[in-house]
Amino acid sequence: MKRIVVLGGAESGVGAAVLAKVKGFDVFLSDNGTIREDYLKTLREWDIPFEQGGHTESEILNADEVIKSPGIPSTAPMVRKLAGQGTHIISEIEFASRYDNAKKICITGSNGKTTTTSLIYYLLQQAGLNVGLGGNIGKSYALQVATEKHDYYVLEISSFQLDDAYDFRPDIAIITNITPDHLNRYDHKFENYIQAKFRITRNLRPEDCFIFDSDDKITVEHLSKIVMQAKQLPFTQEKQLAEGAWLEGDRMVVKVDDDESSIFLKELALGGRHNVYNSMAAALAAKAAGIDNRVIRESLSSFQPIEHRLEPVLNVGGVQYINDSKATNVDSAWYALECQTRPVVWIVGGKDKGNDYSVLRDLVRQKVKAIVCLGVDNSRIHEAFEDIVGKDRMVDTASAEDCVKACAAFAEDGDVVLLSPCCASFDLFKSYEDRGRQFKEAVRRL
Ligand code: ADP
Repeated sequence: MKRIVVLGGAESGVGAAVLAKVKGFDVFLSDNGTIREDYLKTLREWDIPFEQGGHTESEILNADEVIKSPGIPSTAPMVRKLAGQGTHIISEIEFASRYDNAKKICITGSNGKTTTTSLIYYLLQQAGLNVGLGGNIGKSYALQVATEKHDYYVLEISSFQLDDAYDFRPDIAIITNITPDHLNRYDHKFENYIQAKFRITRNLRPEDCFIFDSDDKITVEHLSKIVMQAKQLPFTQEKQLAEGAWLEGDRMVVKVDDDESSIFLKELALGGRHNVYNSMAAALAAKAAGIDNRVIRESLSSFQPIEHRLEPVLNVGGVQYINDSKATNVDSAWYALECQTRPVVWIVGGKDKGNDYSVLRDLVRQKVKAIVCLGVDNSRIHEAFEDIVGKDRMVDTASAEDCVKACAAFAEDGDVVLLSPCCASFDLFKSYEDRGRQFKEAVRRL
């Protein structure tokens, strides 16, 4: 019996192990950290042998094939050893796609993945299709292939999942945009990261579609250097196109083949320029999947905002509090600030990934009346913005409670308090979700 070893015992790894078990392989799962209780339960239920707190070489090096979870870098010693002896290493999506004939709409990019994925999933559901949602959101793709049956999948795919994908082929592939992120996993070379994202397109055939942001110079430049067989559907906010999605006055126009439709921007459920891009990408994907224009229009206007992404929290005394805790890099915070029409008290800070704050200076000058830092070390934020907002309009806080109190002291009727922190959360919080929830609780206690 062929032996499959799965490295990593979280959502992706446990899903892959269950699928391997269902398909009759000799499976072993190894995690050198601690496996969460709910994942342990699944492994026991499916009678899958596993270990945690270390890797036993004799159980791993004899694998015929290894499925590596996306969180484990290719430089990890065990991965190096496996690669050194020539063992084939693949990702969970590569493995699961071998057993799945459903149509796949796959979304990658630096920002907007979850929003675009959720929008497309909602659109397909509203159209009455039997659709699964997976990848980095919710249940793993592999677990669904093992235990459910869908005609369509909408999958959010990180570049880490793509790194170990070879024959994986979406029917519709989307790159939302490409800006520097996670460069530590790509030898600090932006080109490597761009290539990793573009792996989503490598097996596309002429009957498939590639949807991309043609305002994103990095995507367009890379696209000009490669051979692409699939139909290209660009979206833009800068000019009119022969086919794709673009703006005409106060409407978003979507055209695929000869079928053109439009929706007023004010009808879109999600506000902000970045969400116009996300709505365009979603509408193009839905149209390419053959969904009716009416369903697309209605769904784009009835979609509910997702938690931690420009999520309205409460209006307290005329001050609107917004939770955009998922904005963990400069680009996402740029869009969050850009779409604000009222004076902003901006909450920023956390674990800085080497941010270049200079691109935000103009927006801060135009929109921000005070800055409340929420992080252990806020020195780079002071350096970047103190000359614009003034020393007395910047304070440091180290808990959600103190942060919200400081914001309330600065904010007046008609202002916005925006948590869009530009940074990861791990210095003070467990995750961006934890940061967002603590923020919301503190707002509710005001
Ligand atoms: P991802 O899944 O790629 O991290 P999300 O959809 O979760 O993206 O959005 C994360 C943050 O990025 C949001 O809080 C928002 O501020 C910002 N954002 C969303 N869509 C875009 C976009 N198309 N371009 C730039 N920033 C975006």
